Amino acid sequence: MEIKCKFLEQLNNDYKLTKEDISFIAQIAKEQIKFMIRNNIPLLPTNYKNWFIVFCYLFENKQSFTDIDAVSIYKNFFEENCCDDKVENFKSQLQMKKLEKIADKISEDLEMVVKLIEQGDINIENSQKVIEQEWNNANIEKIGENVEKILEELRFLREQNKELKEKLEHYNQEVKKLKEELIEAKEEANLDFLTGLPNRRSFIRALEEYFKLLKEKGIDFSIILFDIDNFKKINDTYGHDVGDLVLKDVASVLKFYLRANTIAGRLGGEEFGILIPAKLEDAVKVAERIRKVMENREIRYQDKIIKYTASFGVTQAKKDDTIDTLLKRADELLYKAKRSGKNIVIADG
Ligand code: GH3
Ligand code: MG
Ligand code: MG
Repeated sequence: MEIKCKFLEQLNNDYKLTKEDISFIAQIAKEQIKFMIRNNIPLLPTNYKNWFIVFCYLFENKQSFTDIDAVSIYKNFFEENCCDDKVENFKSQLQMKKLEKIADKISEDLEMVVKLIEQGDINIENSQKVIEQEWNNANIEKIGENVEKILEELRFLREQNKELKEKLEHYNQEVKKLKEELIEAKEEANLDFLTGLPNRRSFIRALEEYFKLLKEKGIDFSIILFDIDNFKKINDTYGHDVGDLVLKDVASVLKFYLRANTIAGRLGGEEFGILIPAKLEDAVKVAERIRKVMENREIRYQDKIIKYTASFGVTQAKKDDTIDTLLKRADELLYKAKRSGKNIVIADG
């Protein structure tokens, strides 16, 4: 199936927008964004673009339509053209396969090493027995006879150990290589496995896009960095699984309370970032709102109620900022929030 958005085609031919066109775009954008929020579709540039085409087609060709119509048109069209979502899915399937292979290889190698060690143990035990027996029998003559045998046994053991050492060394190298592959595979994925939020890598990619908009079109944006307070204590008190529940709760708060035009990601451990196309004052309000929501969350686990808080650093991007200077400034503000007693929002300026 082919879907067309005549309007977009016109635009591509150097067409000048009329007033009607602008209100047409606004109408599409309004419906499209509402739809994306309703259906939890990440508000990323590629998604905007693809769904815009779908909605443009629907507006041009249909009097009325439902979400299901939109989804089926999207699927028909973008599955044929292998939409980005599919590519991402395919990529993560590949990564899972890669991880499975790595796990298989590790257990295979481990089995081999264990076997070698067991064999080594048996050999050592045997030669120990021989030596002990001879000494216990205190038969000097026999000892003399067997010295050669014992030496041979020991020589064999030394050979065996050498082989074992080599295998272990080789195994070590393999594990190192696998570790690197694992890190790579993890980084290649766009979403954080635990929370389903964009990971650091895709957050940075979004940050690059925001910088482009700031530098080329003067669209302001701010960044909020936050870190869960005393998270180590939560892990230590209730266990790692509860720590994970807290991280997931943070993600659901972000998904639920943030507007569609913000991007929230997990930057690592218990640190998160939010990009918001707004000036500092509004970003601070958002951070304060999120902080309050988190402060009041109650996570139920068995018969316990777990509470948590977070500290926030907020700053607005300047035209002469780079990704590094912006992140560093936000990080310093976050650190300041920690030093000021935690569970607080600190902004610059
Ligand atoms: P602060 O208030 O200063 O931020 O202290 P903190 O305890 O939150 O910070 P710290 O850096 O001392 O500890 C962070 C802990 O987060 C240590 C680490 O084991 C834990 N952690 C990192 N990633 C995960 C994860 O995916 N799951 C769980 N459960 N814990 C994690
Ligand atoms: Mg912390
Ligand atoms: Mg931390």
